[in-house]
Amino acid sequence: MINKKFTSLGVMTSGGDAQGMNAAVRAIVRTGLARGLDVYAIIQGYNGMVRGGDMIRKMSWDSVGGIMHKGGTEIGTARSTEFRTREGRLKAAKNLIDVDIDHLAIIGGDGSLTGANIFREEWPSLIEELVKTKKISKQKGELHPKLKIVGLVGSIDNDMSGTDMTIGADTALKRITDAVDMLASTAASHQRTFVVEVMGRNCGYLALISALSTGADSVFIPESPPEEGWEDRLCKIIATNRDAGKNDSVVIVAEGAKDRKGNHIQPHYIKEVLESKLGQDTRITILGHVQRGGAPSAFDRYMSTVLGFHAVEHIINAGESEEPMMIGMRKNKVTPVSLMDSVNRTHSIYECIKNGEYEKAIDLRGGSFREALATFKTMRQASPKPHEKGKKQKKLAILNTSGPAPGMNMATRTAVRLGLDAGHKMISVKNGFQGLIENELEEMDWQSVEGWTSLGGTVLGTNRKHPTDREYYPIASTLDKHQIDGLLIIGGLSGYQAAYDLMNNRDKYMAFDIPMICVPASINNNLPGSDFSIGADTAINNIVEAIDKIKESAVASNRTFVVEVMGRYCGYLALMSGLATGAERVYLHEEGITLKDMMDDVNELKEGFLSGKHLALVIRNEYANHIYTTEFISSLFEEDGGSIFDVRKSILGHIQQGGNPSPYDRNIATRLTTRAINELIHLTENNKKDCGFLGMTSGQIKLTDLFELPRMIDEKYQRPKEQWWLKLQEIAQVFESYKP
Ligand code: ADP
Repeated sequence: MINKKFTSLGVMTSGGDAQGMNAAVRAIVRTGLARGLDVYAIIQGYNGMVRGGDMIRKMSWDSVGGIMHKGGTEIGTARSTEFRTREGRLKAAKNLIDVDIDHLAIIGGDGSLTGANIFREEWPSLIEELVKTKKISKQKGELHPKLKIVGLVGSIDNDMSGTDMTIGADTALKRITDAVDMLASTAASHQRTFVVEVMGRNCGYLALISALSTGADSVFIPESPPEEGWEDRLCKIIATNRDAGKNDSVVIVAEGAKDRKGNHIQPHYIKEVLESKLGQDTRITILGHVQRGGAPSAFDRYMSTVLGFHAVEHIINAGESEEPMMIGMRKNKVTPVSLMDSVNRTHSIYECIKNGEYEKAIDLRGGSFREALATFKTMRQASPKPHEKGKKQKKLAILNTSGPAPGMNMATRTAVRLGLDAGHKMISVKNGFQGLIENELEEMDWQSVEGWTSLGGTVLGTNRKHPTDREYYPIASTLDKHQIDGLLIIGGLSGYQAAYDLMNNRDKYMAFDIPMICVPASINNNLPGSDFSIGADTAINNIVEAIDKIKESAVASNRTFVVEVMGRYCGYLALMSGLATGAERVYLHEEGITLKDMMDDVNELKEGFLSGKHLALVIRNEYANHIYTTEFISSLFEEDGGSIFDVRKSILGHIQQGGNPSPYDRNIATRLTTRAINELIHLTENNKKDCGFLGMTSGQIKLTDLFELPRMIDEKYQRPKEQWWLKLQEIAQVFESYKP
């Protein structure tokens, strides 16, 4: 499969650093080695390429060990003015040819990728010149007639077209939401306003999504500059929110935000406006480089690993004439896209902003950007729109079911506010279906969900109650008594199954003849019809953070950690956290465990420790096998590891379910619930009784008929029959099974 002459692959990080670059480098190095290539790291990007010598270093399997959890880039990055010149690029070409590199994987922003493409286009002429000036032999020149490149986008701003997420953006968003959550609590204590500046010179993604995720009062982004007179409107928003009882006012400003005349909107100007016009005590926080720093989020580690793997596969298999590609993630699928098309589209967004074509700029950012902007504008109001006269108000009830999932509160808040804004009555139910049995319902108003964005757990309370036949009657009488027109069920599988049963008992209970929509919320991500469920990302982050600490506890010894994670019979948490932490082995129920597997694994671990490994990690899903428990596996490994390594086990337990929701969970909670409540309103207003469950599949939000539930669920193991993420095992195995 590998082109005969293709033996050496260069990998580099360039431009601004971004969390997750290390995971991408690790994946590229290890996949390259596993595919039989020599892999070289080019230290400090184009700088190192121009300097050559020991700035181009041969990598081994171990040279990228223990880097995944680190922020920044271990192989360094830089900005090189020399590489911008032909002279500089000539030196770079010579240095690469010296070690037979004519394939490059570049992780950087649009500048770095543009530079790489210029280098690629120029390569034949550079080689010609090097041969002519006898800097390289004719033979060498003939061996390397072309330069092949593949790009990964490392940029915390999420500013590149062609990929839904760039490496580092999820972590930066996490830094911002964590900071704003903290500021909100001190702001509330003093009734202060905080103006928070976040990164994003040309792109408002971080500002907009963090504003939506934290319940900020206002946001300024380059794609949507405010109309003249915005100062008065901002004051009005802050003042009305204050009057309505909100004590913590937060304004988020992207560093590149401008008004319609092209003047920068500076945080200190906003402060002046709020202080002079409202007399508000206003403080400024410029988050700055904090956003770039620290350990990468689970998503950045996972995505970078998957993209790095595919970048190598792509460059190995790319045809002769193929134009250079960038490996992106679109609609939850790894997608190669034309590198220069993506760069040009990215630049065209900047041009649109410069030329005042804002609507076009927003369109080019993609559908979910516009949707986020619209949702933000509704959510930040101080009260719902005035009720339309003559419009019949519906009564919509919301309940949380199954185990608590971080993001449930965000979902409930979104549903309550959007429902109220559409003119309907929103009713909360305490403790899931138990609350319907016991008639624990309460009408919600706009302010009742204030401050819920950052709260973990569930304020409404949840319960795994699956109502029995005898409990249908009290449920029906509660629904009747309150004249509920529709049910929104935010939770896990027990909620879906309960809704299915109510629907099937409509002939006996008229009250069940209402539309019911289920929204997936479960840390286990074991729900049908959705690639993701609300809460799972937070749980994976909790696991990854715990494993980082566990690993740090074993600096000096030869130790294997066996870590048990949740998920019931679904191995999603185990596999994803395994990919994000670089586990040596992951045990899943879906795959099963045999004694032979364990013996092979123990032997591999022994070999690893004997050849210099100090630390190993094995992740086991809680129900992977009822005989081969975590205790059993740990004892077996301990016994068989003898004097070569020792074993510690760790059962992570409920810390996986707790904590503030991650920005990703807040974001999907908002998106799924926006669609769910709109659907429910549409059904009730049109007297329809459809029931379904919502989900995000391949990047699209889809509603599946509730009748499909039994067909899509593995009844015995309470997980979907089809699980998209199982195909990621192929990638995990490359990293597990390679032997140097
Ligand atoms: P980013 O990759 O994060 O956008 P920069 O725009 O600073 O960061 O680019 C990083 C490096 O890529 C530059 O210092 C330079 O060496 C190289 N580079 C960027 N643009 C070009 C170009 N047009 N021609 C050659 N090299 C370039």
